[in-house]
Amino acid sequence: MEPGPVHPVEERAAFCLHCGAPLARLLRFGRMRKSCPECGFVLFVDAASAAAVVIVEGRRVLLVRRAIEPGRGRWGFPAGFQDYGESLEMTAIREAAEETGLTVELRRLLTVTLSREHPTRLVNLTVYLAVAVAGELRAADDADAAEYFSVDDVPVELAFANNREILQRLRTDHPRGDIT
Ligand SMILES: [Zn+2]
Repeated sequence: MEPGPVHPVEERAAFCLHCGAPLARLLRFGRMRKSCPECGFVLFVDAASAAAVVIVEGRRVLLVRRAIEPGRGRWGFPAGFQDYGESLEMTAIREAAEETGLTVELRRLLTVTLSREHPTRLVNLTVYLAVAVAGELRAADDADAAEYFSVDDVPVELAFANNREILQRLRTDHPRGDIT
């Protein structure tokens, strides 16, 4: 199996997170990993987990304009990284509320995809389909605009290829009628 790209944190990390001793590259669990010769700590750098939420209303999908990099000024589904202690469902619901002001109910899992589109992190992105059940649409947090668009005609530039693929899949799977 191909080893993954070297994570920038693994590249730069110099000291043990537990005891502060200098890290070394040691053979641990089958490959060379930054490890602590003093206390045995191993620096594992995993893909980050994130959730995105496709909020639908009839044949329309909700997109937000990103106020932060990557993809600032372009549009995408509300999304964000999983906080420690959260399930991915919780992440999806929280990000929807933060970026759109809407309380959503998750309907189903759309896809899980490995994204290489973030500049510094490999991301396992879990994408849910949801509907809004309460709240008032208002962009906030990492988004500065939020708008429903027909899935058949999205006249804005999207920040991520995986968002384009999801839209295409929704059109293919639901050639007419409501998406839910
Ligand atoms: Zn240590």
